Amino acid sequence: MPDLSTIVAEIAATMRAETARGTVADYIPELRRVSPDRFGIAVVTRDGEEIVGGDADEPFSIQSISKVFTLTLALGRVGDGLWKRVGREPSGDPFNSIVQLEHERGIPRNPFINAGAIAVTDVLLSGNRPREALGEILRFIRFVAEDEAIAIDEAVARSERETGFLNASLANYMRAFGVVQGQVEHVLGVYFHHCAIAMSCRHLARAGRYLAFNGRIPSLEAGIITPDRARRINALMLTCGHYDGSGDFAFSVGLPGKSGVGGGVLAVAPGTVSIAVWSPGLDAKGNSLLGRIALERLARAMQWSVFG
Ligand code: GLN
Repeated sequence: MPDLSTIVAEIAATMRAETARGTVADYIPELRRVSPDRFGIAVVTRDGEEIVGGDADEPFSIQSISKVFTLTLALGRVGDGLWKRVGREPSGDPFNSIVQLEHERGIPRNPFINAGAIAVTDVLLSGNRPREALGEILRFIRFVAEDEAIAIDEAVARSERETGFLNASLANYMRAFGVVQGQVEHVLGVYFHHCAIAMSCRHLARAGRYLAFNGRIPSLEAGIITPDRARRINALMLTCGHYDGSGDFAFSVGLPGKSGVGGGVLAVAPGTVSIAVWSPGLDAKGNSLLGRIALERLARAMQWSVFG
C-alpha cells in the first residue's frame, strides 16, 4: 500500500502549482475576497492520526458542508419523521433551484439542496429561539471537531443575508405549503449563519469522523449517532452531496462527499478515514474544482472506494 503521507504531500504540491483553478463564488460578495491560490487537505485515520498538507489549518467558509451537521441534529430531534418534510432523491438541478418545489407541493428533493437544508433548519428552530438553535449547531460542531474556537464569520452571514433573495423565495414557498413552519426571517437567519461557520480542513476532517467510523469517534470513545444513521447520511452524501454534480463525483471519486461554495469538500472512506479538502475555485456546478481532482487522486492512489 502506498504511503499516505507521501501521497498527501504530493497532492498538496501539485494542486498548489495547478493553473486551472475554477472560479471563486461571487454571488455571496464576501466570499469573493478569498484567494483562489489556497489549497488545503487533511486526512484523519481511525486511531486519530492527522495527515495534512497545504493550507490545512486556515479557516474557510464551510457553507453547505454545514448541512451534514444540521441533518445529523434534525434526525436526532425528530428521527424518521423528518422524511415527511424532506425527500431523499438526487435533484439533478442546481443547489438553489426552485423548479421542483411547485411540482412536489413544497417538499424539497433532499436535505442538501438549499430548499431541503432550509426545511431542516426549520426543524432545528422549532421550539427554540434563533440564538439557541445556532448555539446547538455550534456546540455540536465544536465537539466533533474538538475545537472550542470554531465560530461564525459574521461578515459572511451578513453578506449572504443581503443577497439571499433566492433562498428567501425558497423559504417563503415552503412556508406556503407548511413545510417550513417557523417565521421565515428566523429560519433564514439561522440558515445563513450556519452556512457562515468557518473551519479549517483539519477541523472539518475531525468533524467527519463519526460518519467515517460507524457513528463513533474512536479516539474519543464517543458514540455520536447509531451506525445505521451514519450509513444513511453517507448514502445521502453520495447521491446528493454535490447537487447536479453528484453522479460525476461518485463516478470519479467513489466516496460519499459534501461540498460547499466556499470551496470545501468533506468526504469519508467508511471504516478507513475522514478527509477534508479546500480549494476556493468552483466548477460550473458550484463544487470545488481542485477539491474533486485532489480527492480523485487520493482515493485512486489509496484504493479507497465504496464500490469495491
Ligand atoms: N449558503 C449558500 C447558499 O445558500 C450555500 C450554498 C452552497 O454551499 N452550495 O447559497
